Amino acid sequence: MSEKGAKFIFVTGGVLSSLGKGLASASIGALLESRGLTVTLQKLDPYINVDPGTMNPFQHGEVFVTDDGAETDLDLGHYERFTHARLGHDNNFTTGKIYDQVITKERRGDYLGGTVQVIPHITDEIKNSIRLVSKDVDIVIVEIGGTIGDIESLPFLEAIRQFRADAGKENVLYIHLTLVPYIGTAGELKTKPTQHSVKELRSIGIQPDILLCRTDRYLSKEIKSKIALFCNVSTDAVITAKDVECIYEVPLVFHSEGLDNKIVELLNIWTRTPRLEEWEQLCRQLTHPEFRVNIAVVGKYVDLTESYKSLNEALTHGGMLNKCRVDFTFLDSETITPDNCADKLAHVDGILVPGGFGSRGIEGKISAAGYARERKIPYFGICLGMQVAVVAFARHVAGLENAHSSEIDPGTPDPVIYLLTEWFDDQTQTIQTRTEASDKGGTMRLGAYPCTLAENSLAFTAYGRKEISERHRHRYEFNNQYRAKLEEAGLKVSGTSPEGDLVEIVEIEDHPWFLGCQFHPEFKSRPMEPHPLFRDFIKAALIHSGYRKFEPMPM
Ligand code: GLN
Repeated sequence: MSEKGAKFIFVTGGVLSSLGKGLASASIGALLESRGLTVTLQKLDPYINVDPGTMNPFQHGEVFVTDDGAETDLDLGHYERFTHARLGHDNNFTTGKIYDQVITKERRGDYLGGTVQVIPHITDEIKNSIRLVSKDVDIVIVEIGGTIGDIESLPFLEAIRQFRADAGKENVLYIHLTLVPYIGTAGELKTKPTQHSVKELRSIGIQPDILLCRTDRYLSKEIKSKIALFCNVSTDAVITAKDVECIYEVPLVFHSEGLDNKIVELLNIWTRTPRLEEWEQLCRQLTHPEFRVNIAVVGKYVDLTESYKSLNEALTHGGMLNKCRVDFTFLDSETITPDNCADKLAHVDGILVPGGFGSRGIEGKISAAGYARERKIPYFGICLGMQVAVVAFARHVAGLENAHSSEIDPGTPDPVIYLLTEWFDDQTQTIQTRTEASDKGGTMRLGAYPCTLAENSLAFTAYGRKEISERHRHRYEFNNQYRAKLEEAGLKVSGTSPEGDLVEIVEIEDHPWFLGCQFHPEFKSRPMEPHPLFRDFIKAALIHSGYRKFEPMPM
């Protein structure tokens, strides 16, 4: 038996990427929780970067930040949204992080002069990393990044192969996600890619127990039998992973295909029958809205919605509580100028400027924030979105014409956003210091920080309490030297660190809804608990739209 009796499910993917392995893993977690089991999830990524913090969102999608300040793969966002698991540093390992640990041990002399090799040293390190998260849960779901056949993933696959022998047969399950494409010209579903992928997996010693077959239609009994025969699994272990309209339907589809039943049968665990009413209601709400609003997201990574995964979900969650479909248009801030704001933004019900780094498109973001303030369009600024709102306010209302963030313009005469070089850090309870020359990654304010809200504010109305905790990922801060001047001009500071020295939320009075926050609320929004700031932003947008009715598209 494994320690404390945890059981392990390993999820691999075949044929091609983007089949939804992260969502499948998250949905398995949701189903097992609905049966009363406690779960945690872990992602093992084959790339060499130590973490995704330094990776370009264009290539890799969003960097998801956990409470403990880990910069992780965006799949951890799915895991937290679909389950109650609270994740951290130990829930995401990359090849880089594993090698880093092994090399550190080697330098320290831990291997006592032995030759350090992929097997057993790297594979042992991987297995130890998996065991790290297995305390206090019934089930650990481990997703292996990449696709079967990739050179990089081999050490991870070898480690999970060995894991069954270590932990015991009844404690380990292999689930493989594959593709069953429908070929229009032949008029049929093709099983060959799945056969090949499973063959590849078996050639490295892993026989999958369950196959999740991604397809656009339900698999017939005949097709399932054929796949079962060629892939050496039982027919009821061939599960249709059908395309869905909304991602929160995935657990329901899996359940109707008998997935959770099969998992508990194979792992030999007794559980209560699953309770899925919450998920059913969620999907009903999402697919039958009464109203619709149009939100402009003005950002840099506009070509790739993956870069704003949590943000998109949080907007959708915020809409749900308002019975409202949220349509978002991504606008490239490089194309926005003070003169064309009216053309580009006149039709929208709300403007959101998300987080970002660097100067590209910054003037467009400042213009959008200024336009929202002047035209009284609901505005939500997140991290960089708050910083540009402060810059726009300083320039246009407080008369500091050349105000800027020192990140973008180090020579600005009025750095209303600047690099704080010394502050008391609530997370570590220590004084922290940094300079412009400090390491980019090492000096960010990362993870959960407490914040105290001012009563009589939009923030307090939303949260309904004074003390909150939210996740950060930034280096620059509101410059307190300008606080009095900006407040005098009408900027309201409605959230600060408990000591009052870090400004966390700003608002503008005499506006329907204008709020900027230094943290990233999107990381904590869940379909079952939509984030209050997103809820209230969408509500303001809905009011702005005059409660525009949702008219379903004619079929
Ligand atoms: N670039 C800004 C900073 O580092 C904002 C970061 C963000 O939006 N996540 O402070």
